[in-house]
Amino acid sequence: MQVIKFGGTSVGSPEAILQVIEIVAEKIKQEPVITIVSAFGGTTDALLQCGALAAGGNELYKEQVNNITNRHLNAVKQLIPVQQQSSLLSAVKKLCNEVEDLCNGIFLLGETTARTKDKLVSYGELISSQIINAAFQARGVKSTWWDSRKLIRTNSEFGNAVVDFPKTGEQFSAARKELSTSLVLMPGFVASDAAGTTTTLGRGGSDYTAAIAAAALDASKLEIWTDVSGMMTADPRWVPNAKVIPSISYQEAMELSHFGAKVIYPPTIQPVMNKHIPVWIKNTFAPADPGTVIELDGFRNGNPVRGISSINNLALLSLEGSGMIGVPGFSRRLFEALSSQQINVILITQGSSEHSICVGVDVLSAEKAKQAVDAAFEPEITLQKVDPLIVEKDLSIVALVGEQMKSHPGISGKMFGALGRNGVNVRAIAQGSSERNISAVISTRDVRKAINLLHEEFFETTNKQVNLFITGVGNVGSRLLQQLAQQQQYLLQHNKLQLRVVGLANSKKYVISEEGLDLQNWKTELENGSDGDIASFTDGIIQRNLRNTVFVDITASEIVARIYPKLLEKSIAVVACNKIACSSPYVYYRELKDKAHAFNTSFLFETNVGAGLPIIGTLNDLLKSGDQVHRIEAVLSGTLNFVFNNYDGSRPFAEVVRQAQDEGYTEPDPRLDLSGTDVMRKIMILAREAGETIEMEAISNNSFLPESCMKGTVDDFYREMLNQEAHFKAIYDEAAANGNKLKFVASFNNGRAAVGLRQIAPGHDLYHLYGKDNIILFYTERYPEQPLVIKGAGAGADVTASGVFADILRATLN
Ligand code: ADP
Ligand code: ASP
Ligand code: MG
Repeated sequence: MQVIKFGGTSVGSPEAILQVIEIVAEKIKQEPVITIVSAFGGTTDALLQCGALAAGGNELYKEQVNNITNRHLNAVKQLIPVQQQSSLLSAVKKLCNEVEDLCNGIFLLGETTARTKDKLVSYGELISSQIINAAFQARGVKSTWWDSRKLIRTNSEFGNAVVDFPKTGEQFSAARKELSTSLVLMPGFVASDAAGTTTTLGRGGSDYTAAIAAAALDASKLEIWTDVSGMMTADPRWVPNAKVIPSISYQEAMELSHFGAKVIYPPTIQPVMNKHIPVWIKNTFAPADPGTVIELDGFRNGNPVRGISSINNLALLSLEGSGMIGVPGFSRRLFEALSSQQINVILITQGSSEHSICVGVDVLSAEKAKQAVDAAFEPEITLQKVDPLIVEKDLSIVALVGEQMKSHPGISGKMFGALGRNGVNVRAIAQGSSERNISAVISTRDVRKAINLLHEEFFETTNKQVNLFITGVGNVGSRLLQQLAQQQQYLLQHNKLQLRVVGLANSKKYVISEEGLDLQNWKTELENGSDGDIASFTDGIIQRNLRNTVFVDITASEIVARIYPKLLEKSIAVVACNKIACSSPYVYYRELKDKAHAFNTSFLFETNVGAGLPIIGTLNDLLKSGDQVHRIEAVLSGTLNFVFNNYDGSRPFAEVVRQAQDEGYTEPDPRLDLSGTDVMRKIMILAREAGETIEMEAISNNSFLPESCMKGTVDDFYREMLNQEAHFKAIYDEAAANGNKLKFVASFNNGRAAVGLRQIAPGHDLYHLYGKDNIILFYTERYPEQPLVIKGAGAGADVTASGVFADILRATLN
């Protein structure tokens, strides 16, 4: 004999019921089958809502009862041939009338009790099981309807009754003796107490009914048919990458369901585990899928973490006080106070200092718990030996479950590392000594992020999803988007990285799409986005609270550079192409570096110096490995190099500058380049990275640009350069006469930084530098005479975008 249970969705429509009939009809060819069914999906909630409306004096309950009635009558009409409908239609109508009578009573009383609610919701299963039973019979399958209320005996704890197993066993044995068909239909969820009053087994309790029946009848197996293809590594509604677990032990399944895996009602496992009856979880809508088997030795190899689950609506209660240390009996009194109010404790932690005990309970019990505990400790609270109970809400538990975790070190380290890197603050931790589960209490708003990132961490076959928010879609920004689009597939295949651009912004508009934007079509997506500035974009980022988030600033905006601390505090990595933050007063630069460190995230700005050239990364590597920088010599302005490499007096200096701007090498305001300010910023950033506390004012600038060029607008600047053509020509001619080239050189030597135009003689390291190239020479402890040289294109949208891209990848490795 086997027991099969079909859940609410599996019997949620006449089409689904036909599928159920097909599945069961196959089974009874082999052995007798006890079929337990839930109410039609949604009916239990609908019935409870009728009761609540009626109790609240709202006559809309009548309409609701009508809807329920019609749904069931329609099912009869679709499942049963017309000639055979009438007796079932009147039976169903009669039951629905009883529902209405009950609600009328509740309406008149203006209140409802747990006992009445149980009676009310019992109709969901009573009606569904009778309709399905009749549907079998109409197809010529002989079947018996067993009334679960006469078989399952419970106490009188309405809403969540406790089963009397011996009595229940006797009742099943008696019924079995009478049984003459190979198919039985039974309502799930319902039972009755010794007085014969209807009770229920708790929400989701039809699973339990099935397990009770399987145990009582010593079934060969129990099958739970639902709307997913098995027990999964995480709740598939939250984790799209969740996978079916082929095999799992009773203990693990129990633990997963206790920690929120709704696919099985938690008490279900116990009765079948005691009798070693295997349980299968199967999908009614994909019957060929193998499903999950829950059995004694469940699959032992492979991943020590079997699944991840979560419980919401948790309140954390903390009892603290100096008077507790070393005094026995405090915990006993705490738990007695809670149990006197029938409060279920979900999680317990106590620090070894014994200074506090912390328990997690359902938030609905929190106030009751506070009253009970404060009353129990009143004498100590008055003497200030113990503080009044602290209650914190809006919390959840995320738990890793797996029996093999105990023999694998490092799992909790990995778990908390992943949470920490993503800014998920852990409020309390519990790990049972069985080590079958490791639980962390976190804020409810972080749950989805936490489950997904833990899933990524422990189920390696899945890809790591990286969520990018990019602001600035000018030259470099649009190249970056192009490069990302081009590499997405490659990174997925070769690095298991799923890089998605989730948000995009310019100074006026932004668009955020959690599924990731279409990179072929980002312009339109952004045009159709919301109006809003960087503040709204940032709020959107923080509110989404996605895992592995990287914020990319490809603007030259001061306002954007001011946002970084807010993001870093949420453990969101910041990749800045924008130089403003790092060249701000030192305190701000320091604050950002410290914040990134404190919140376990990255603040990267490789492209601030030398575009895509690996300058800052190399400098960091030198220092980290113990080298010391003595001197830096560099040509760091792509623009100035381009200008002096192309200017020979044959066409105006202003025109060459214009060309540099048109080719995308200059800052939006080219005066920043021409005046040397941009080079000052770069050498300052390098000096800071080399460990120097240095400000812009401390850098000397031997500028070649006449003061008059710095006045007015960018157009004025171009005009004034034309006026000053003779000045530029003179500088050029002098260098040319000496056989030298002009280079705008930055240097850092023994703590002092300087920039300025210099004549460079042939043979000098800086002489052979063409186009927009940059060069940097590091003289260090390890490179004392022959410097470490980095040279190459130091400006341009493509190389800068690729430097930003590399920083993004570096941030994802953090
Ligand atoms: P039924 O009505 O068949 O009893 P439930 O809705 O009670 O179905 O349970 C099935 C649902 O449980 C699935 O649709 C899924 O969303 C949810 N669920 C939560 N955690 C898990 C998990 N770890 N594995 C599978 N399903 C899960
Ligand atoms: N119908 C009940 C509920 O919705 C029991 C069940 O479906 O398991 O909670
Ligand atoms: Mg269920």
